[in-house]
Parts: sequence; structure tokens; C-alpha cells
Amino acid sequence: MKEKKKFILCLNCIDGRTHEAIFDYLKRNYPERYIDYITAPGMVRHLSDEKEKFNGFLNEAIEISIKFHNPEAIVIAAHSDCAGNPVEDAKQKQMLKKAKEMISSKYNISVEAVFLENNQNLVNV
Ligand SMILES: [Zn+2]
Repeated sequence: MKEKKKFILCLNCIDGRTHEAIFDYLKRNYPERYIDYITAPGMVRHLSDEKEKFNGFLNEAIEISIKFHNPEAIVIAAHSDCAGNPVEDAKQKQMLKKAKEMISSKYNISVEAVFLENNQNLVNV
């Protein structure tokens, strides 16, 4: 029987300036995968908030991807000049690290974080 194509899950901002760069990265690093793609304005702000613990709609979306698609990796992304998370790049990178820790401790799935500097250069965090 042919092995089923695998999934990854990407959690990104809604910002249209980021999607091409993020998809290029995902296609390069996770070839031949389906990409579950969840966006929210300033995604990393929600993911790194201890109190919010990404409840509600966002949490449900993540749970559905994980339960039904069993993604082999989760990629979280943030970017400069974010309307939904208007803080310095350095602060956003800290938030990415925090989000990565929180998601890693909640799910037994490999998590990586990327930051799109000036909406051009993608760096691992
Ligand atoms: Zn944004």
C-alpha cells in the first residue's frame, strides 16, 4: 500500500507580506507534505501568552490539525512590523522562543520557530 503523504502544521500571522516566504521555506524544508496553515493577527502573541494559553478558536483549530492530521512538525512564524503584535523584533523573537517551549511541552511534536526580518530574510529562532 502506498504510504500516505504526511502533514505539517504552520502557525503564522495573517499578514499577506509573509506568506510567500513562509511557504517557500516550508516547501524547501518539508517537501511533499500537506501544510495545515492557521493564521491569526500577531499569532505569536497568542501562542506565548501564559494566561490565554491559546484557548478558544485558535486552540480548537490547532487541536483539529493535531488530532486528525498528526503533523510531524509544527512551524511557528512571526515577522517585523506586525500590526497584531506591534513590538520590537527582539521581543518577538523572545515570544517565539516562549511559544516554542509552550507548544513543545503540550504536544509531543517537533516544533521550530522562524522570524521574517523586514518581511524579507527568514531566520530560525
Ligand atoms: Zn503580523
